[in-house]
Amino acid sequence: MNSTSLLSKNNAVDHLPAFIQTNIPLHDKNWFGTGGAAHYFCEPKTPQEFSTALAFAHQHQLPTYILGEGANVLISDAGFAGLIIRPRLLDITFSDTHVTAGAGASLAHVIEVCLDNGLIGLEEFSGIPGTIGGAVFINLHYFEFLIAQFLVHAVIIDAVTGVIQTVDNAWFNFSYNYSTLHTRTHYLVCATFALTRTSPDLINFARGRRHEIIRHRARRYPTARTCGSFFRVFHPEEVTLVINTKNDFCWLLS
Ligand SMILES: Cc1cc2nc3c(=O)[nH]c(=O)nc-3n(C[C@H](O)[C@H](O)[C@H](O)COP(=O)(O)OP(=O)(O)OC[C@H]3O[C@@H](n4cnc5c(N)ncnc54)[C@H](O)[C@@H]3O)c2cc1C
Repeated sequence: MNSTSLLSKNNAVDHLPAFIQTNIPLHDKNWFGTGGAAHYFCEPKTPQEFSTALAFAHQHQLPTYILGEGANVLISDAGFAGLIIRPRLLDITFSDTHVTAGAGASLAHVIEVCLDNGLIGLEEFSGIPGTIGGAVFINLHYFEFLIAQFLVHAVIIDAVTGVIQTVDNAWFNFSYNYSTLHTRTHYLVCATFALTRTSPDLINFARGRRHEIIRHRARRYPTARTCGSFFRVFHPEEVTLVINTKNDFCWLLS
């Protein structure tokens, strides 16, 4: 029995778009290696497929979740009773000093292609796993660098209507670990970043820096079954600032 007829038997969805699969395991699609199966799963390769997937979910009142490389998610062993969308929007194009990358493109690959094209900037995020979608969602950061500093504009898709539009940097309301994508009213389709064109010598320097950052990270962090840093950013109402007479200070967690 194929999965479509199995679903019909359970009074669920009769007619699946060809690119939507059923009962797909998720444990091999994230860094922790956890998670049961997604009832529905797809990897749209075009914005139109992305839109079709959302329309399908909306029509059948299925919850949706967008998955990148799963480097910042912990998936329940119960699985996901809805549609997991893992965008396979992988195009990378250049226009002068701007690079536009699809939401599903891996950050590591985008950095390499930018260096190959004489553009520096994004290599500051070397060694951080994930896709462009995940990076923009969280406003990816490494020391003083935030991906928001490079993003000029982006294409987003409305989570309900599937309408696609272009928005500028301000739309994202970026702050530490935050972008408007957290509201989950829209998902990222692609993003355009402004980089710096430089000489072959400085490209070589940037490649060296990239290797050094990766070496430094590899020495400090586990590289499997992890989500990177294990700390939580506390909200102001959870902590109290205490300053003593010597002007030392600390935060007390209530
Ligand atoms: C070893 C390790 C080191 C790390 N170091 C850092 C670090 O230095 N700095 C840092 O900032 N992070 C770091 N992280 C966290 C992680 O790399 C980032 O959060 C990364 O951006 C996750 O990308 P992803 O594609 O795997 O997203 P996922 O983990 O798959 O998803 C993360 C979130 O993004 C959302 N999302 C994904 N794609 C889209 C889209 N197209 N549209 C809308 N929402 C989307 C998901 O719904 C989810 O809420 C680290 C993680 C690991 C495992």
